[in-house]
Amino acid sequence: MAELGESVCPYCGVGCRLRFEGDGGRVTRIRGVETAAANLGGICAKGAQLGPTIATGDRLTRPQLRRTRQESFRPTDWATALVHVAERFSNILDAHGPEAVAFYGSGQLDTETAYLVTKLFKGRLGCNNTDSNSRLCMAAAVAGYRTSLGSDGPPCCYDDIELADVILIIGSNMAEAHPVTFDRIRASKKARPEQQIIVVDPRRTPTALAADLHLQVAPGGDIALMNALGRALVLRGAVDAPFVHMHTNGFAAYRDFLLDQDLPELCAAAGLTPQAIDGLARLIAGAGTLLSFYCMGLNQSTVGMWKNNSLINLHLLTGQIGKPGAGPFSLTGQPNAMGGREAGLLSQQLPGYRSVDDADHRREMERAWGCRPGSIRPAPGLTAVEMFRALEKRQLKAIWIAATNPAVSLPDLHHVRRALSRAQLVVVQDAYHPTETSRLADVLLPAAQWGEKEWTSTNSERTISYSPKLFDPPGQALPDWEIVARFAQTLGQVGFDQASAAEVWDEFIRLTQGRPCDMAGATSARLRTVTSLQWPCPHADHPGSKRRYLDHQFASADGRADFLPRDHREPRELPDHEFPFVLTTGRLYAHWHTLTRTAKAGKLVRREPAPFVEVHAADAERLHLEAGELVQLSSRRGTVRLPVRLSDAVCPGMVFVPFHWGDLFGEGNAANYLTISAIGRVAKQPELKFCAINLEKIAAPRNHAGRRRFLFQLTNHGVRTGVEAYVAKRLQEHGSSRPQPDPVAF
Ligand code: SF4
Repeated sequence: MAELGESVCPYCGVGCRLRFEGDGGRVTRIRGVETAAANLGGICAKGAQLGPTIATGDRLTRPQLRRTRQESFRPTDWATALVHVAERFSNILDAHGPEAVAFYGSGQLDTETAYLVTKLFKGRLGCNNTDSNSRLCMAAAVAGYRTSLGSDGPPCCYDDIELADVILIIGSNMAEAHPVTFDRIRASKKARPEQQIIVVDPRRTPTALAADLHLQVAPGGDIALMNALGRALVLRGAVDAPFVHMHTNGFAAYRDFLLDQDLPELCAAAGLTPQAIDGLARLIAGAGTLLSFYCMGLNQSTVGMWKNNSLINLHLLTGQIGKPGAGPFSLTGQPNAMGGREAGLLSQQLPGYRSVDDADHRREMERAWGCRPGSIRPAPGLTAVEMFRALEKRQLKAIWIAATNPAVSLPDLHHVRRALSRAQLVVVQDAYHPTETSRLADVLLPAAQWGEKEWTSTNSERTISYSPKLFDPPGQALPDWEIVARFAQTLGQVGFDQASAAEVWDEFIRLTQGRPCDMAGATSARLRTVTSLQWPCPHADHPGSKRRYLDHQFASADGRADFLPRDHREPRELPDHEFPFVLTTGRLYAHWHTLTRTAKAGKLVRREPAPFVEVHAADAERLHLEAGELVQLSSRRGTVRLPVRLSDAVCPGMVFVPFHWGDLFGEGNAANYLTISAIGRVAKQPELKFCAINLEKIAAPRNHAGRRRFLFQLTNHGVRTGVEAYVAKRLQEHGSSRPQPDPVAF
């Protein structure tokens, strides 16, 4: 057995560094690297089962083309494929202008690729239509940090776990989605039993089960909870007055806003009692240090940015930021979601946390890239959901999709499929084929994946990691950055002749100098020696920074953080008599995103072999459903059929469906055929955590007695606090059937 080397895990944003051993071209053993700060030797089942996902029969090994989508793909060579794509892109650009093309990438892409895509599209083509599937996970966190603290990027680090007196986990099922970080929390709790772990989640997840306190907030009730909590903290005198006075703006207005709130209304919206909220306030007020983790439960909402602001308000109020063991810590779902943000891949961004709507930022990048003044457009481009809306309306003509599978992961999949069918050109760059998306493409470009190339990524705690090439890619597959560079050269663009990933990296980090995410000291040469550094790391002798804002100088123009009072807002689509259940979607421990890799690992598949809907026993009884029985779930957008899994993790009136499975595993049964594509006004993140559905036993006729009985019981009898009360209240308020809500956001 030979040592192959180390790489960052290609799954979640924890960023575990893993050591690989192999035999005869196979990976035979994978372990966590003990010295890696991200995981301290830890590894979860997904990382440990990477071996079977590498040399699979469905690896894309050659570029492939087809003239129509009714034809089969024909293998070709790189030169032919790139000339074909370049000609079709150029024709569309000539005929319709730069607004007619788009690049939809991923938190799977390394920073080098994200940077070159940004340079090509925004700098050279004058097209800001680049976005990433990070829009589905983290856009609200980006907007929340930026508006409250002046800059994107979390202030905290994993070492804060052991230093926190109270760890608040809100809207995150860390035990399944970020297991190694949650293992560290468990270990910390074991070593310090007095440490308090509080989970706020509408589901009783494995994370909630491990907590000291679980507050089963009503779905969509997070802002109400945080406002009630802020109010209780103010009334308890828990305000850190010196910190607030010296380092923040807007406290008086925020305090007045909180004191004007109606507590019973807040409690009703949050589905929690005043006593529960006061108990939480007491814990937080008494804590020397408060660390909060959050993820999709806050972000995947039409008011996701507001939820982020509301949580950061609490940290500012109590002075729990800019010190060890404290701060608001957003968890990223992908290995390089952070790096994409740093490189400017999101539609509103430019490299180094710059923005397209800032004239100085545009000028800086135009100068750096040698573009003529005015080349970069001042308005943000289309975001993920907007790209597919524009495709459906035929406003967008061509889309290049890389390392992501929107035909499973985007909301409202019937709409997504219609959108792709109307595109003039769909290019899919991926390591595997078929995926649900690659089946709908015109051109397939084979990408080398994580162990087959040199790549750089940034994890949830701002650690930049270099991963070397461990083995050769299959066939003609190329690193993503090289595909983009070759395409740009085929288009005749200059500035894409870098000879290596290292050269791309060094060009990129020079552009971060003096910016909040300063990585100028993390040169490719240095990273190839030390493997990881935490930004800010402004010069070559800088050791990197575990924490930000230790001097309480925030990244805003005046150095102060802003209190941003935010009202509770209802989710976009509420339950009614036609669609009386709340559907929430999420992840499972054994799988990652759309199963492109984890479905190839037998041990993971045996653990979670098939999709299901989690239904509370009380609802199952009302609807005469047995465990394992097929049930039909319908929303205004689609219908799927799934077996029932009885569970008290959900409350009556709410069901949970994991979003991992797409059409490759059973046509038409993906959770996202049901979900709504409403997006937030600023963050443009879709509301994947909440939509209204109906649940029917398949054999029963529509409007059968079971459903009527369910509605009667829920609206008239035995109403409890929490989710059940919330759904019952919504049914009373919105009893009549309503049309599909306007998908345009707040
Ligand atoms: Fe670590 Fe996440 Fe990979 Fe598991 S999936 S090994 S927690 S990076």
